[in-house]
Amino acid sequence: MTIVCDINTAMDFSAIDSSYGLALVDQAGKILSANPAFLNLFALPPDVQNKTFSDLTGTMNPAATDFLQQTLAGRHEKAIKQTTIIDHKTLSVHVIELDQAQRLIMVESSPSSPLPLPEINHPAHTPHNAAMVNRTMLSECIANWKPDEPGTASLAMIMIGLDRFKRINETLGHDAGDQLLKFAAQRLLRIVRSDDVVAHFSDDRFAVLQINQNQPVAATTMAERISELLKRPFLVNGQQANISASVGLAILHHNTESTGDLIKHAELALHDAKQNARGSYRLYEQSLQKNASERHELEIGLRRALFLREFTLFYQPQARMQDKKIIGFEALIRWEKPGAGIISPLRFIPLAEDMGKIHEIGQWVLQTACRDAAAWPEDIMIAVNVSPVQFESNSLKQIVQAALTASGLAPQRLELEITEGLLIKNITNALEQLREIQAMGVSIAMDDFGTGYSSLNYLSSFPFSKIKIDQSFVHRMHTDKSRTLIKAVIALGSALGIKTLAEGVETEEQFDYLARNGCEEIQGYLLSKPVPAEQIRALIS
Ligand code: C2E
Ligand code: CA
Ligand code: CA
Repeated sequence: MTIVCDINTAMDFSAIDSSYGLALVDQAGKILSANPAFLNLFALPPDVQNKTFSDLTGTMNPAATDFLQQTLAGRHEKAIKQTTIIDHKTLSVHVIELDQAQRLIMVESSPSSPLPLPEINHPAHTPHNAAMVNRTMLSECIANWKPDEPGTASLAMIMIGLDRFKRINETLGHDAGDQLLKFAAQRLLRIVRSDDVVAHFSDDRFAVLQINQNQPVAATTMAERISELLKRPFLVNGQQANISASVGLAILHHNTESTGDLIKHAELALHDAKQNARGSYRLYEQSLQKNASERHELEIGLRRALFLREFTLFYQPQARMQDKKIIGFEALIRWEKPGAGIISPLRFIPLAEDMGKIHEIGQWVLQTACRDAAAWPEDIMIAVNVSPVQFESNSLKQIVQAALTASGLAPQRLELEITEGLLIKNITNALEQLREIQAMGVSIAMDDFGTGYSSLNYLSSFPFSKIKIDQSFVHRMHTDKSRTLIKAVIALGSALGIKTLAEGVETEEQFDYLARNGCEEIQGYLLSKPVPAEQIRALIS
Protein backbone atom coordinates (compact mmCIF):
# COMPACT_ATOMS: atom_id res chain seq x y z
CA MET A 1 0.00 0.00 0.00
CA THR A 2 1.46 3.35 -0.98
CA ILE A 3 0.88 6.38 1.11
CA VAL A 4 0.79 9.40 -1.13
CA CYS A 5 2.29 12.21 0.84
CA ASP A 6 4.89 14.54 -0.58
CA ILE A 7 6.82 15.28 2.55
CA ASN A 8 10.36 15.49 1.39
CA THR A 9 11.26 18.34 3.61
CA ALA A 10 10.30 18.30 7.25
CA MET A 11 7.09 20.16 7.99
CA ASP A 12 7.19 22.87 10.62
CA PHE A 13 4.60 22.05 13.25
CA SER A 14 5.45 24.83 15.68
CA ALA A 15 2.64 27.09 14.47
CA ILE A 16 -0.04 24.40 14.40
CA ASP A 17 -2.51 25.21 17.08
CA SER A 18 -4.35 21.90 17.10
CA SER A 19 -6.09 20.03 19.89
CA TYR A 20 -4.05 16.99 18.85
CA GLY A 21 -0.40 16.82 19.80
CA LEU A 22 1.59 16.41 16.59
CA ALA A 23 5.25 15.53 16.19
CA LEU A 24 7.32 14.41 13.28
CA VAL A 25 10.23 12.03 13.96
CA ASP A 26 12.90 10.60 11.70
CA GLN A 27 13.96 6.98 11.35
CA ALA A 28 16.22 7.19 14.38
CA GLY A 29 13.41 8.58 16.53
CA LYS A 30 14.77 12.14 16.50
CA ILE A 31 12.13 14.83 16.77
CA LEU A 32 12.07 16.96 13.61
CA SER A 33 9.21 19.19 14.64
CA ALA A 34 6.48 19.32 17.29
CA ASN A 35 3.45 21.52 17.80
CA PRO A 36 2.68 23.40 21.06
CA ALA A 37 -0.01 20.87 22.06
CA PHE A 38 2.56 18.07 21.90
CA LEU A 39 5.03 20.03 24.02
CA ASN A 40 2.28 20.82 26.52
CA LEU A 41 1.07 17.23 26.79
CA PHE A 42 4.51 16.00 27.79
CA ALA A 43 5.64 19.19 29.58
CA LEU A 44 8.52 19.58 27.12
CA PRO A 45 10.64 22.70 26.53
CA PRO A 46 10.39 24.37 23.08
CA ASP A 47 13.87 23.23 21.93
CA VAL A 48 13.23 19.54 21.35
CA GLN A 49 14.38 19.50 17.76
CA ASN A 50 16.89 16.76 16.90
CA LYS A 51 16.45 15.11 20.29
CA THR A 52 15.17 11.59 20.80
CA PHE A 53 12.77 10.71 23.57
CA SER A 54 15.58 9.06 25.47
CA ASP A 55 17.54 12.36 25.27
CA LEU A 56 14.58 13.89 27.03
CA THR A 57 14.56 11.44 29.95
CA GLY A 58 14.79 13.62 33.00
CA THR A 59 12.75 16.40 31.37
CA MET A 60 9.74 14.23 30.61
CA ASN A 61 7.68 12.02 32.85
CA PRO A 62 9.62 8.68 32.66
CA ALA A 63 6.40 6.74 32.05
CA ALA A 64 5.72 8.94 29.03
CA THR A 65 9.26 8.50 27.69
CA ASP A 66 9.00 4.72 28.00
CA PHE A 67 5.60 4.68 26.41
CA LEU A 68 6.60 6.76 23.38
CA GLN A 69 9.81 4.78 22.86
CA GLN A 70 7.94 1.49 22.99
CA THR A 71 5.28 2.76 20.60
CA LEU A 72 7.92 3.94 18.15
CA ALA A 73 9.66 0.58 18.40
CA GLY A 74 6.78 -1.07 16.48
CA ARG A 75 8.54 0.16 13.36
CA HIS A 76 7.43 -2.43 10.87
CA GLU A 77 3.83 -1.34 10.80
CA LYS A 78 2.35 1.48 8.75
CA ALA A 79 0.08 2.64 11.54
CA ILE A 80 0.23 1.83 15.22
CA LYS A 81 -2.11 2.91 17.95
CA GLN A 82 -1.37 2.61 21.66
CA THR A 83 -3.22 3.92 24.66
CA THR A 84 -2.01 4.54 28.18
CA ILE A 85 -2.92 6.50 31.27
CA ILE A 86 -0.33 8.98 32.53
CA ASP A 87 -0.98 11.66 35.15
CA HIS A 88 -4.73 10.91 35.20
CA LYS A 89 -4.94 11.48 31.46
CA THR A 90 -5.73 8.86 28.84
CA LEU A 91 -3.22 9.29 26.04
CA SER A 92 -3.89 7.72 22.66
CA VAL A 93 -0.86 7.76 20.47
CA HIS A 94 -1.02 7.06 16.76
CA VAL A 95 2.21 6.57 14.87
CA ILE A 96 1.82 6.80 11.12
CA GLU A 97 4.62 6.02 8.72
CA LEU A 98 4.56 8.86 6.19
CA ASP A 99 7.52 7.62 4.18
CA GLN A 100 10.76 5.70 4.68
CA ALA A 101 12.31 8.56 6.61
CA GLN A 102 9.56 10.16 8.63
CA ARG A 103 6.84 9.16 10.99
CA LEU A 104 4.01 11.28 12.31
CA ILE A 105 3.00 10.97 15.95
CA MET A 106 -0.50 12.17 16.82
CA VAL A 107 -1.52 12.25 20.45
CA GLU A 108 -4.99 12.74 21.83
CA SER A 109 -5.53 13.31 25.49
CA SER A 110 -8.73 12.92 27.46
CA PRO A 111 -9.30 12.89 31.21
CA SER A 112 -9.34 9.34 32.54
CA SER A 113 -12.19 8.03 34.70
CA PRO A 114 -12.08 9.22 38.25
CA LEU A 115 -11.83 6.60 40.96
CA PRO A 116 -15.20 5.61 42.38
CA LEU A 117 -16.21 8.09 45.04
CA PRO A 118 -17.31 6.77 48.42
CA GLU A 119 -21.05 6.36 48.99
CA ILE A 120 -22.64 9.21 50.87
CA ASN A 121 -25.83 9.19 52.85
CA HIS A 122 -27.03 12.49 51.56
CA PRO A 123 -25.54 14.78 48.98
CA ALA A 124 -25.70 17.63 51.48
CA HIS A 125 -22.58 16.48 53.34
CA THR A 126 -19.56 18.21 51.92
CA PRO A 127 -16.27 19.42 53.30
CA HIS A 128 -17.44 22.94 53.93
CA ASN A 129 -21.01 22.03 54.78
CA ALA A 130 -22.59 23.59 51.74
CA ALA A 131 -26.19 22.42 51.69
CA MET A 132 -28.30 21.08 48.84
CA VAL A 133 -31.77 22.57 49.15
CA ASN A 134 -34.90 21.84 47.13
CA ARG A 135 -36.72 23.97 44.59
CA THR A 136 -39.15 25.50 47.10
CA MET A 137 -36.34 26.53 49.43
CA LEU A 138 -34.47 28.04 46.50
CA SER A 139 -37.51 30.12 45.52
CA GLU A 140 -37.84 31.26 49.12
CA CYS A 141 -34.20 32.35 49.19
CA ILE A 142 -34.81 34.50 46.12
CA ALA A 143 -38.04 35.97 47.45
CA ASN A 144 -36.50 36.80 50.82
CA TRP A 145 -33.38 38.35 49.35
CA LYS A 146 -32.66 41.64 51.08
CA PRO A 147 -29.61 43.25 49.57
CA ASP A 148 -27.59 45.08 52.19
CA GLU A 149 -25.83 47.36 49.75
CA PRO A 150 -28.48 48.73 47.41
CA GLY A 151 -27.10 49.57 43.99
CA THR A 152 -24.29 47.03 43.88
CA ALA A 153 -26.01 43.93 45.11
CA SER A 154 -26.86 41.12 42.67
CA LEU A 155 -28.32 37.67 42.40
CA ALA A 156 -27.22 35.17 39.77
CA MET A 157 -29.12 32.02 38.99
CA ILE A 158 -27.07 29.25 37.40
CA MET A 159 -29.37 26.56 36.08
CA ILE A 160 -27.64 23.30 35.22
CA GLY A 161 -29.22 20.62 33.04
CA LEU A 162 -27.54 17.23 32.67
CA ASP A 163 -27.64 16.43 28.96
CA ARG A 164 -29.41 13.22 27.95
CA PHE A 165 -29.62 12.03 31.53
CA LYS A 166 -32.71 10.03 30.65
CA ARG A 167 -30.51 7.83 28.50
CA ILE A 168 -28.37 6.84 31.51
CA ASN A 169 -31.53 5.71 33.30
CA GLU A 170 -32.63 3.76 30.25
CA THR A 171 -29.33 2.12 29.44
CA LEU A 172 -27.66 1.64 32.82
CA GLY A 173 -30.79 1.52 35.01
CA HIS A 174 -32.36 3.87 37.55
CA ASP A 175 -29.96 2.91 40.34
CA ALA A 176 -27.08 4.04 38.19
CA GLY A 177 -28.98 7.22 37.34
CA ASP A 178 -29.52 7.99 41.04
CA GLN A 179 -25.90 7.31 41.79
CA LEU A 180 -24.78 9.58 38.99
CA LEU A 181 -27.00 12.38 40.35
CA LYS A 182 -25.36 11.98 43.74
CA PHE A 183 -21.90 12.16 42.24
CA ALA A 184 -22.84 15.18 40.15
CA ALA A 185 -24.21 16.85 43.30
CA GLN A 186 -20.97 16.10 45.13
CA ARG A 187 -18.91 17.60 42.34
CA LEU A 188 -21.05 20.74 42.35
CA LEU A 189 -20.93 21.15 46.10
CA ARG A 190 -17.18 20.89 45.99
CA ILE A 191 -16.75 23.97 43.83
CA VAL A 192 -19.33 26.41 45.16
CA ARG A 193 -18.62 29.08 47.79
CA SER A 194 -20.02 28.54 51.25
CA ASP A 195 -22.58 31.33 50.82
CA ASP A 196 -23.89 30.03 47.48
CA VAL A 197 -27.21 28.21 47.57
CA VAL A 198 -27.23 24.91 45.71
CA ALA A 199 -30.48 23.16 44.83
CA HIS A 200 -31.52 19.89 43.30
CA PHE A 201 -34.11 21.59 41.16
CA SER A 202 -35.79 18.65 39.45
CA ASP A 203 -34.79 15.23 38.05
CA ASP A 204 -31.80 16.17 35.95
CA ARG A 205 -31.50 19.79 36.97
CA PHE A 206 -29.44 21.54 39.57
CA ALA A 207 -29.29 25.24 40.36
CA VAL A 208 -26.73 27.45 42.05
CA LEU A 209 -27.71 30.85 43.40
CA GLN A 210 -24.83 33.30 43.81
CA ILE A 211 -25.52 36.20 46.12
CA ASN A 212 -23.81 39.59 45.88
CA GLN A 213 -20.89 38.53 43.72
CA ASN A 214 -19.25 40.42 40.92
CA GLN A 215 -21.54 39.63 37.96
CA PRO A 216 -21.59 38.41 35.26
CA VAL A 217 -17.95 37.39 35.84
CA ALA A 218 -18.63 35.13 38.84
CA ALA A 219 -21.56 33.36 37.17
CA THR A 220 -19.85 32.79 33.81
CA THR A 221 -16.68 31.55 35.53
CA MET A 222 -18.76 29.13 37.57
CA ALA A 223 -20.66 28.00 34.46
CA GLU A 224 -17.39 27.17 32.71
CA ARG A 225 -16.12 25.23 35.70
CA ILE A 226 -19.37 23.31 35.99
CA SER A 227 -19.37 22.33 32.29
CA GLU A 228 -15.79 21.17 32.54
CA LEU A 229 -16.34 19.26 35.77
CA LEU A 230 -19.46 17.40 34.69
CA LYS A 231 -17.93 16.45 31.36
CA ARG A 232 -15.42 14.23 33.15
CA PRO A 233 -16.49 10.59 33.12
CA PHE A 234 -18.42 9.12 36.06
CA LEU A 235 -18.00 5.60 37.27
CA VAL A 236 -21.40 4.23 38.28
CA ASN A 237 -22.03 0.60 39.22
CA GLY A 238 -18.62 -0.23 37.82
CA GLN A 239 -19.44 1.26 34.42
CA GLN A 240 -18.18 4.44 32.87
CA ALA A 241 -20.90 7.00 32.16
CA ASN A 242 -20.24 10.12 30.14
CA ILE A 243 -22.60 13.05 30.28
CA SER A 244 -22.28 16.75 29.76
CA ALA A 245 -24.08 19.66 31.31
CA SER A 246 -25.66 22.69 29.69
CA VAL A 247 -25.96 25.82 31.77
CA GLY A 248 -28.34 28.79 31.70
CA LEU A 249 -27.56 31.99 33.56
CA ALA A 250 -29.78 34.86 34.64
CA ILE A 251 -28.55 37.84 36.60
CA LEU A 252 -30.54 40.33 38.59
CA HIS A 253 -29.09 43.60 39.77
CA HIS A 254 -30.71 45.27 42.70
CA ASN A 255 -33.64 47.54 41.96
CA THR A 256 -33.60 46.85 38.27
CA GLU A 257 -35.94 43.89 37.89
CA SER A 258 -38.29 41.80 39.95
CA THR A 259 -37.01 38.59 41.49
CA GLY A 260 -40.02 36.71 40.14
CA ASP A 261 -38.59 36.07 36.68
CA LEU A 262 -35.09 35.01 37.69
CA ILE A 263 -35.76 31.26 37.58
CA LYS A 264 -37.82 31.52 34.42
CA HIS A 265 -35.06 33.47 32.68
CA ALA A 266 -32.37 31.00 33.74
CA GLU A 267 -34.54 28.16 32.42
CA LEU A 268 -34.96 29.92 29.08
CA ALA A 269 -31.21 30.46 28.87
CA LEU A 270 -30.62 26.78 29.70
CA HIS A 271 -33.06 25.76 27.03
CA ASP A 272 -31.20 27.89 24.52
CA ALA A 273 -27.83 26.47 25.56
CA LYS A 274 -29.16 22.94 25.02
CA GLN A 275 -30.48 23.92 21.60
CA ASN A 276 -27.31 25.46 20.33
CA ALA A 277 -24.65 23.19 21.66
CA ARG A 278 -25.02 20.79 24.49
CA GLY A 279 -22.33 21.26 27.09
CA SER A 280 -22.29 25.03 26.60
CA TYR A 281 -23.63 27.89 28.71
CA ARG A 282 -25.84 30.84 27.85
CA LEU A 283 -26.61 34.12 29.56
CA TYR A 284 -30.26 35.21 29.48
CA GLU A 285 -31.18 38.11 27.23
CA GLN A 286 -34.54 39.35 26.04
CA SER A 287 -34.27 37.90 22.56
CA LEU A 288 -34.43 34.42 24.09
CA GLN A 289 -38.09 34.95 24.81
CA LYS A 290 -38.65 35.44 21.08
CA ASN A 291 -36.57 32.36 20.22
CA ALA A 292 -38.62 30.29 22.63
CA SER A 293 -41.85 31.26 20.86
CA GLU A 294 -40.32 30.52 17.46
CA ARG A 295 -39.16 27.14 18.66
CA HIS A 296 -42.59 26.39 20.00
CA GLU A 297 -44.04 27.19 16.60
CA LEU A 298 -41.44 24.95 14.87
CA GLU A 299 -42.29 22.12 17.24
CA ILE A 300 -45.95 22.31 16.34
CA GLY A 301 -45.04 22.41 12.64
CA LEU A 302 -42.69 19.47 12.95
CA ARG A 303 -45.35 17.32 14.55
CA ARG A 304 -47.48 17.74 11.44
CA ALA A 305 -44.79 17.82 8.76
CA LEU A 306 -44.52 14.07 8.10
CA PHE A 307 -48.23 13.69 8.00
CA LEU A 308 -48.60 16.63 5.59
CA ARG A 309 -45.71 15.41 3.36
CA GLU A 310 -43.67 18.55 3.84
CA PHE A 311 -40.32 16.70 3.83
CA THR A 312 -38.37 15.92 0.66
CA LEU A 313 -34.97 14.42 0.02
CA PHE A 314 -32.29 16.12 -2.03
CA TYR A 315 -29.29 14.15 -3.26
CA GLN A 316 -25.70 15.31 -3.53
CA PRO A 317 -23.25 13.36 -5.72
CA GLN A 318 -20.10 11.76 -4.36
CA ALA A 319 -17.41 11.16 -6.98
CA ARG A 320 -14.22 9.24 -7.50
CA MET A 321 -11.23 11.55 -7.38
CA GLN A 322 -9.32 10.11 -10.33
CA ASP A 323 -11.97 10.81 -13.02
CA LYS A 324 -14.76 12.62 -11.15
CA LYS A 325 -17.10 9.73 -11.95
CA ILE A 326 -20.20 9.81 -9.74
CA ILE A 327 -20.27 6.69 -7.60
CA GLY A 328 -23.01 7.58 -5.17
CA PHE A 329 -25.30 10.19 -3.63
CA GLU A 330 -25.86 11.42 -0.10
CA ALA A 331 -29.50 11.91 0.88
CA LEU A 332 -30.09 15.27 2.57
CA ILE A 333 -33.46 16.08 4.02
CA ARG A 334 -35.33 19.34 3.34
CA TRP A 335 -38.40 20.70 5.11
CA GLU A 336 -40.63 22.96 3.07
CA LYS A 337 -42.76 24.59 5.72
CA PRO A 338 -45.69 26.46 4.19
CA GLY A 339 -45.23 30.17 4.72
CA ALA A 340 -41.67 29.75 6.02
CA GLY A 341 -39.80 28.43 2.97
CA ILE A 342 -37.14 25.75 3.22
CA ILE A 343 -35.91 25.09 6.75
CA SER A 344 -32.38 23.76 7.13
CA PRO A 345 -31.90 20.31 8.69
CA LEU A 346 -29.32 21.96 10.94
CA ARG A 347 -32.25 23.73 12.57
CA PHE A 348 -34.91 21.07 12.73
CA ILE A 349 -32.96 17.79 13.14
CA PRO A 350 -31.73 18.71 16.66
CA LEU A 351 -35.29 19.74 17.52
CA ALA A 352 -36.64 16.46 16.12
CA GLU A 353 -34.04 14.61 18.21
CA ASP A 354 -35.16 16.38 21.36
CA MET A 355 -38.81 15.72 20.63
CA GLY A 356 -38.21 12.03 19.90
CA LYS A 357 -39.53 12.67 16.34
CA ILE A 358 -36.23 11.67 14.73
CA HIS A 359 -37.18 7.97 14.78
CA GLU A 360 -40.14 8.55 12.52
CA ILE A 361 -38.27 11.03 10.32
CA GLY A 362 -35.21 8.78 10.08
CA GLN A 363 -37.36 5.83 9.09
CA TRP A 364 -39.00 7.91 6.36
CA VAL A 365 -35.57 9.05 5.10
CA LEU A 366 -34.30 5.47 4.90
CA GLN A 367 -37.41 4.21 3.11
CA THR A 368 -37.46 7.09 0.63
CA ALA A 369 -33.73 7.06 -0.08
CA CYS A 370 -33.67 3.28 -0.65
CA ARG A 371 -36.74 3.45 -2.86
CA ASP A 372 -35.29 6.29 -4.99
CA ALA A 373 -31.87 4.62 -5.22
CA ALA A 374 -33.39 1.32 -6.37
CA ALA A 375 -34.29 3.10 -9.62
CA TRP A 376 -30.70 4.23 -10.26
CA PRO A 377 -27.98 2.22 -12.06
CA GLU A 378 -26.71 -0.65 -9.95
CA ASP A 379 -23.21 0.74 -9.46
CA ILE A 380 -24.50 3.88 -7.72
CA MET A 381 -24.50 3.89 -3.91
CA ILE A 382 -26.81 5.78 -1.58
CA ALA A 383 -25.55 7.31 1.68
CA VAL A 384 -28.03 8.10 4.46
CA ASN A 385 -27.35 10.16 7.60
CA VAL A 386 -28.34 8.47 10.83
CA SER A 387 -28.72 10.40 14.06
CA PRO A 388 -27.19 8.96 17.27
CA VAL A 389 -30.67 9.16 18.80
CA GLN A 390 -31.94 6.60 16.26
CA PHE A 391 -29.73 3.98 17.93
CA GLU A 392 -31.46 4.48 21.26
CA SER A 393 -34.59 2.54 20.34
CA ASN A 394 -32.54 -0.56 19.40
CA SER A 395 -34.69 -1.02 16.32
CA LEU A 396 -32.47 0.56 13.66
CA LYS A 397 -31.46 -2.81 12.24
CA GLN A 398 -35.09 -3.78 11.64
CA ILE A 399 -35.81 -0.37 10.11
CA VAL A 400 -32.86 -0.68 7.73
CA GLN A 401 -33.86 -4.23 6.82
CA ALA A 402 -37.45 -3.17 6.17
CA ALA A 403 -36.34 -0.28 3.93
CA LEU A 404 -34.11 -2.63 1.93
CA THR A 405 -36.80 -5.28 1.57
CA ALA A 406 -39.52 -2.83 0.57
CA SER A 407 -37.34 -1.16 -2.06
CA GLY A 408 -35.50 -4.25 -3.30
CA LEU A 409 -32.21 -2.32 -2.98
CA ALA A 410 -29.13 -4.52 -2.50
CA PRO A 411 -27.66 -3.89 0.99
CA GLN A 412 -24.23 -3.39 -0.63
CA ARG A 413 -25.55 -0.19 -2.20
CA LEU A 414 -26.53 1.39 1.12
CA GLU A 415 -24.11 3.28 3.34
CA LEU A 416 -25.05 4.80 6.71
CA GLU A 417 -23.21 7.96 7.81
CA ILE A 418 -22.70 8.24 11.52
CA THR A 419 -20.92 10.85 13.61
CA GLU A 420 -18.67 10.14 16.55
CA GLY A 421 -21.39 11.57 18.83
CA LEU A 422 -22.95 8.13 18.60
CA LEU A 423 -19.87 6.36 19.87
CA ILE A 424 -19.28 8.77 22.72
CA LYS A 425 -22.60 8.00 24.27
CA ASN A 426 -22.98 4.28 24.56
CA ILE A 427 -20.16 2.77 22.66
CA THR A 428 -20.81 -0.90 23.42
CA ASN A 429 -24.43 -0.88 22.40
CA ALA A 430 -23.81 1.35 19.38
CA LEU A 431 -20.99 -0.87 18.11
CA GLU A 432 -23.12 -3.96 18.52
CA GLN A 433 -25.90 -2.44 16.42
CA LEU A 434 -23.39 -1.21 13.83
CA ARG A 435 -21.87 -4.68 13.53
CA GLU A 436 -25.28 -6.26 13.02
CA ILE A 437 -26.16 -3.74 10.33
CA GLN A 438 -22.78 -4.21 8.69
CA ALA A 439 -23.27 -7.97 8.73
CA MET A 440 -26.31 -7.40 6.51
CA GLY A 441 -23.93 -6.02 3.86
CA VAL A 442 -24.52 -2.31 4.57
CA SER A 443 -21.43 -0.04 4.80
CA ILE A 444 -20.80 2.40 7.62
CA ALA A 445 -19.02 5.72 7.06
CA MET A 446 -17.69 8.07 9.71
CA ASP A 447 -19.07 11.54 9.00
CA ASP A 448 -17.66 14.97 9.96
CA PHE A 449 -14.29 13.42 10.81
CA GLY A 450 -11.99 15.63 12.85
CA THR A 451 -14.62 17.85 14.43
CA GLY A 452 -15.18 15.86 17.61
CA TYR A 453 -13.36 15.01 20.72
CA SER A 454 -11.77 11.78 19.80
CA SER A 455 -12.48 10.80 16.20
CA LEU A 456 -9.11 9.10 15.85
CA ASN A 457 -9.82 6.70 18.67
CA TYR A 458 -13.04 5.50 17.14
CA LEU A 459 -11.38 4.54 13.88
CA SER A 460 -9.80 1.56 15.50
CA SER A 461 -13.01 0.50 17.24
CA PHE A 462 -14.96 -0.35 14.09
CA PRO A 463 -14.21 -1.32 10.47
CA PHE A 464 -15.53 1.86 8.87
CA SER A 465 -15.71 1.76 5.10
CA LYS A 466 -15.10 5.46 4.71
CA ILE A 467 -13.86 8.53 6.55
CA LYS A 468 -15.59 11.75 5.54
CA ILE A 469 -13.15 14.58 6.21
CA ASP A 470 -15.22 17.43 7.58
CA GLN A 471 -15.78 20.36 5.27
CA SER A 472 -14.42 22.83 7.82
CA PHE A 473 -10.89 21.47 7.11
CA VAL A 474 -11.41 21.70 3.37
CA HIS A 475 -12.64 25.29 3.66
CA ARG A 476 -9.66 26.23 5.82
CA MET A 477 -7.18 24.55 3.54
CA HIS A 478 -5.16 27.75 3.34
CA THR A 479 -4.05 27.19 6.97
CA ASP A 480 -1.18 24.93 7.94
CA LYS A 481 -3.24 23.24 10.58
CA SER A 482 -5.97 22.13 8.18
CA ARG A 483 -3.49 21.05 5.52
CA THR A 484 -1.54 18.96 8.02
CA LEU A 485 -4.66 17.35 9.39
CA ILE A 486 -6.02 16.57 5.94
CA LYS A 487 -2.72 14.98 4.94
CA ALA A 488 -2.49 13.03 8.16
CA VAL A 489 -6.07 11.75 7.96
CA ILE A 490 -5.57 10.63 4.35
CA ALA A 491 -2.33 8.89 5.34
CA LEU A 492 -4.02 7.28 8.34
CA GLY A 493 -6.99 6.13 6.24
CA SER A 494 -4.66 4.71 3.64
CA ALA A 495 -2.62 2.89 6.27
CA LEU A 496 -5.75 1.44 7.87
CA GLY A 497 -7.29 0.56 4.51
CA ILE A 498 -10.20 2.98 4.91
CA LYS A 499 -11.31 5.18 2.00
CA THR A 500 -11.24 8.94 2.53
CA LEU A 501 -13.81 11.34 1.12
CA ALA A 502 -13.40 15.10 1.42
CA GLU A 503 -16.61 17.04 1.95
CA GLY A 504 -17.43 20.59 0.94
CA VAL A 505 -15.03 20.75 -2.02
CA GLU A 506 -15.85 24.01 -3.76
CA THR A 507 -12.78 24.99 -5.79
CA GLU A 508 -10.36 23.43 -8.27
CA GLU A 509 -7.55 24.44 -5.92
CA GLN A 510 -9.02 22.38 -3.08
CA PHE A 511 -9.61 19.52 -5.51
CA ASP A 512 -5.98 19.59 -6.73
CA TYR A 513 -4.55 19.61 -3.24
CA LEU A 514 -6.72 16.65 -2.21
CA ALA A 515 -5.83 14.77 -5.39
CA ARG A 516 -2.10 15.36 -4.85
CA ASN A 517 -2.36 13.97 -1.35
CA GLY A 518 -4.18 10.79 -2.20
CA CYS A 519 -7.77 11.54 -1.17
CA GLU A 520 -9.97 9.02 -2.95
CA GLU A 521 -13.41 10.59 -3.17
CA ILE A 522 -14.96 14.03 -3.08
CA GLN A 523 -18.30 15.68 -2.51
CA GLY A 524 -19.13 19.37 -2.75
CA TYR A 525 -20.45 22.28 -4.76
CA LEU A 526 -17.58 21.87 -7.25
CA LEU A 527 -19.38 18.77 -8.52
CA SER A 528 -22.93 19.73 -7.69
CA LYS A 529 -25.16 21.12 -4.96
CA PRO A 530 -27.73 18.70 -3.55
CA VAL A 531 -30.48 18.24 -6.17
CA PRO A 532 -34.04 16.85 -6.20
CA ALA A 533 -34.43 13.18 -7.18
CA GLU A 534 -35.73 14.13 -10.64
CA GLN A 535 -32.38 15.65 -11.62
CA ILE A 536 -30.29 12.59 -10.80
CA ARG A 537 -30.60 10.88 -14.18
CA ALA A 538 -29.21 13.99 -15.89
CA LEU A 539 -26.26 14.10 -13.49
CA ILE A 540 -25.34 10.46 -13.99
CA SER A 541 -25.51 10.50 -17.76
P1 C2E B 1 -23.70 16.68 6.58
O1 C2E B 1 -24.10 15.26 6.71
O2 C2E B 1 -22.29 17.01 6.89
O3 C2E B 1 -24.07 17.10 5.11
C1 C2E B 1 -23.29 17.96 4.33
C2 C2E B 1 -23.85 19.34 4.36
O4 C2E B 1 -22.95 20.20 3.67
C3 C2E B 1 -25.18 19.49 3.61
O5 C2E B 1 -25.91 20.51 4.28
C4 C2E B 1 -24.73 19.93 2.24
O6 C2E B 1 -25.74 20.63 1.54
C5 C2E B 1 -23.60 20.85 2.60
N1 C2E B 1 -22.62 20.95 1.52
C6 C2E B 1 -22.31 20.02 0.62
N2 C2E B 1 -21.32 20.45 -0.20
C7 C2E B 1 -20.98 21.69 0.21
C8 C2E B 1 -20.03 22.66 -0.23
O7 C2E B 1 -19.28 22.46 -1.19
N3 C2E B 1 -19.97 23.82 0.45
C9 C2E B 1 -20.79 24.07 1.52
N4 C2E B 1 -20.65 25.24 2.14
N5 C2E B 1 -21.69 23.18 1.98
C10 C2E B 1 -21.80 22.01 1.32
P2 C2E B 1 -27.44 20.32 4.65
O8 C2E B 1 -28.15 19.57 3.58
O9 C2E B 1 -27.95 21.64 5.08
O10 C2E B 1 -27.38 19.34 5.87
C11 C2E B 1 -26.83 19.74 7.07
C12 C2E B 1 -26.70 18.61 8.05
O11 C2E B 1 -27.99 18.15 8.45
C13 C2E B 1 -26.01 17.39 7.46
O12 C2E B 1 -24.63 17.60 7.50
C14 C2E B 1 -26.49 16.31 8.41
O13 C2E B 1 -25.74 16.32 9.59
C15 C2E B 1 -27.89 16.78 8.74
N6 C2E B 1 -28.85 16.03 7.92
C16 C2E B 1 -29.26 16.25 6.64
N7 C2E B 1 -30.13 15.31 6.26
C17 C2E B 1 -30.29 14.46 7.31
C18 C2E B 1 -31.08 13.29 7.54
O14 C2E B 1 -31.80 12.78 6.66
N8 C2E B 1 -30.96 12.70 8.76
C19 C2E B 1 -30.16 13.20 9.73
N9 C2E B 1 -30.11 12.57 10.94
N10 C2E B 1 -29.41 14.29 9.56
C20 C2E B 1 -29.48 14.93 8.36
CA1 CA C 1 -23.43 13.35 6.16
CA1 CA D 1 -20.49 15.72 6.98
